[in-house]
Order: sequence, then structure tokens, then C-alpha cells
Amino acid sequence: MSGPVPVEILRQHLIDPEICIRCNTCEETCPIDAITHDGVNYVVKADVCNACMACVPPCPTGAIDNWRNVLKAQAYSIEDQFGWDELPTQNPTVGAADAAAAPDLPQAATAASDGDEAPGSGSDMVRGSTVPPWSAARPYVHLYTHKAPTTATVVGNYRLTDDAASSDIHHLVLDFGAMPLPVLEGQSIGILPPGTNAGGRAHHARQYSVASPRDGERPGYNNVSLTVKRVTRDHSGNATDGVCSNYLCDLKKGDVVTVIGPFGNTFLMPNHPNSHLLMICTGTGSAPMRAMTEYRRRRRLKGATGKLMLFFGARTQQELPYFGPLMNLPKDFIDTNLAFSRTPGQPKRYVQDAMRERAVDVAHLLKDGGTHIYVCGLKGMEDGVLQALGEIAQAHGMAWDALWERLKREGRLHLETY
Ligand code: FAD
Repeated sequence: MSGPVPVEILRQHLIDPEICIRCNTCEETCPIDAITHDGVNYVVKADVCNACMACVPPCPTGAIDNWRNVLKAQAYSIEDQFGWDELPTQNPTVGAADAAAAPDLPQAATAASDGDEAPGSGSDMVRGSTVPPWSAARPYVHLYTHKAPTTATVVGNYRLTDDAASSDIHHLVLDFGAMPLPVLEGQSIGILPPGTNAGGRAHHARQYSVASPRDGERPGYNNVSLTVKRVTRDHSGNATDGVCSNYLCDLKKGDVVTVIGPFGNTFLMPNHPNSHLLMICTGTGSAPMRAMTEYRRRRRLKGATGKLMLFFGARTQQELPYFGPLMNLPKDFIDTNLAFSRTPGQPKRYVQDAMRERAVDVAHLLKDGGTHIYVCGLKGMEDGVLQALGEIAQAHGMAWDALWERLKREGRLHLETY
């Protein structure tokens, strides 16, 4: 007599299209290329994903951490997922199935649902901390969502870069009126641009780092500033009109924007007065550094020995946002080092070159357990900066691999590149 046919159940990894801000972090992090995207959605290939969880901690919104029990033979295809505006609900019949009857249920997925990190979670593939500094304030996240966003009024929109510079970067101030938007330095918000894409779907949200400190662009006001670069060329250099950046750069005073978030719970500053900030950024990556620096400036604590060291890169001085105000900050408050890669008649100089020139002081900070490192800006800067940190550490008697692990573990190395 034959028994019942065993049913194979898969705990399928899915990305929530309503929360995902299409930042590409998951696709870049996945060690086995299980994540892909089209012009609309980021999706997970059911037959490739092994639930190693490497992509989960770096996701800024948590959209990545979604799972559905499905019959293996009926797993959602990537074509299904490309067509989704929202996640399907869990089929209760399959959802109730006993894990023992599911030979394909990956161990890691089970652990994830318990909130634990699975063995072999791939955390060594994550290059920066997935935990905040011990003294960071507790952030609020996801107060506003696609389904329930809030609005803000534009109270300022200024071009930061020289009129003659090819790069058009704006400083935008948004006022939230009576709506609460508690944000910390290092967090970001999402902007929902109006209109639809070529497929007739509402544009997805784009994420922008907050450039103002927690007590507002203007202290005591319920406002937030952003640093937005107008995208006129895609990553390959072809002409394009970036949907959201152009929308934001063209806004006028009094216009109303739709906002979601806040996002981010690890790229946060330490709050103990003797902690040091080593900040390395390019272009609009200066936004969180501006927020942290300004917070420290406003709260300059008597007797605090915490140092601020900044490496800031741009193509030219004219393209460097906040150049004037930055140069006015007292030298005993912040140690500022600029690097320009396209100054006519000058050799190309990148942030990592400036770091190597200041190797002795960078090494001094690396040796100090109170140092917290922040890297923000173009994706391409990450390798060069990590390599420079490694070289400086090794040259000054520190084993970089061990130090790197320790920095990550202690919430002291934060990378946000896009
Ligand atoms: P899209 O319409 O989305 O893209 C148009 C084309 O341009 C596409 O081909 C796209 O691949 C390409 N493209 C997208 N971005 C760029 C770029 N930067 N350079 C060249 N080509 C590009 N942006 C800021 O200006 N300031 C910030 O503070 C900021 N913070 C961010 C924080 C995080 C965590 C992340 C993930 C992103 C951040 N961004 C920031 C980038 C921002 O979210 C948008 O991706 C960017 O403004 C482009 O959006 P868009 O709608 O104008 O372009």
C-alpha cells in the first residue's frame, strides 16, 4: 500500500515591493547572484537563494526580510515577482504546514524568523557594521510608509554648487509642520515623486540622507534638510533625466512633497563626548557628515576630547557642496582634508590619497577604541577607502583583518554608498 505523497514546502525569500527603495544593496551583497531586478522590482530567484541572510542586515528598509511558505513546485517565479505591486498574503494551508514535512526549509530562514543570526549567515561578506555605536540614540524607523506617507512643505531650495560647475547640487529644506518626523544624523527619508513610470505604475520612492541634525535644520524647528544632486547622466554617462532628483531640484518654496521613512538604524553617530568621528565622503555623501558635524558643533561639550576628522572628495572645488561653511569651521573643531579629482592642471587626487598623506593621524585614530568611521558617497569609493584604511593600519602595526572585524562588531565602521 502506498502512503501519502510527500509535499515539498519551500520557505521562499521575497522582497516587499511596497517598502523597497530599489537601492541595489541586496543585489550587490548577495554572494550567489540570487537577486535581480527589472525597471520596477527587485526579486529573489527561488531556485538560487539559499537563505544565507547576507542581504538582510544591509537592507536599509527591511523590505528584504520577507518569507512565504509555498509548495516548492509552485514557488513564485521572478516574472511573477516583477509584476507585483504588493506581496501576496501567506496561503494559510501551506503556511500551517509542519516544518518537518519540508525538506527544503533552509536552516537559515528558520533562524531568521526567530530573529537570530544563522550559522554561515554571510556576515563576513558584509563590509560595514550592521549594529549602531553603543552610545547612539535609538532611531525611529518606518513611521511613514507608501500606504500611509506624510507630507512636507519646501521652505528652501538653494543651489550649492557654482553656477559654472557641471554638477548641480541643491540644499533643500523641508518643513513637516505639526507632523512628527524624529530623525537622527545618518538616517534618511524617502521621497515619493509624483507621476508614473513608463509601465504606468507609480514611481517608487528614492532615498535621501538627512543633512541636518536631530534638532532641525533650524534649531527648534520641525524641519529637515537634504543634499540632492540632479542626475542628468546615468552611470554609463548617457544623458538621462533622473526622476526624483530633477523633481526635487526644481521644487519651489511652498511646494508640497510626499515623504516616507525615516530609514536606517545603524549609520548613526556615537553620543559619548570623547568618541572620535573619522568621516570620509564624496559629493552628496557629505549630507550625513554635515548633520553629524553640525550636531557636534551645536553640542560642543566642555572638556570633550572627541576629534572630528573629515576627508571630502569632489571633482573640483566648485562642485564641493558646503565648501564655504566647511572652511569657516574652526580648525580645532574639525580637521578637514579635501581631495579634488579634476582640477585643471593638477594631478587627480581622491579621498584615499588624502588619507594616505595623513596616515600618521589616521592610524592614531584607528588605534583608538573610541573612533567611529563613516564612509558615504559614490559606490566606487568603497574599495579605495577600505584599501587605504587597511594599508595605513598594517603600516602602523595593526592587523587590518582583525581590526576590520572588530570595527564591524563594535558598530564603528559604517558604509553607505549608492
Ligand atoms: P532615476 O530616475 O532613479 O535614475 C535615472 C538613471 O540614472 C538610471 O539609469 C540610474 O541607474 C542612474 N542613476 C541613478 N542615480 C545616479 C547617480 N547618483 N549618478 C549617476 N547615475 C545615476 N542622492 C542624493 O542626491 N543625495 C543623497 O543624500 C542621497 N542619499 C542616498 C542614501 C541612500 C541610502 C541611497 C540608497 C541613495 C541615496 N541617494 C542620494 C541616491 C538617490 O536615492 C537617487 O538614487 C538619486 O537621486 C537618483 O534618483 P533619480 O530618480 O533622479 O534617478
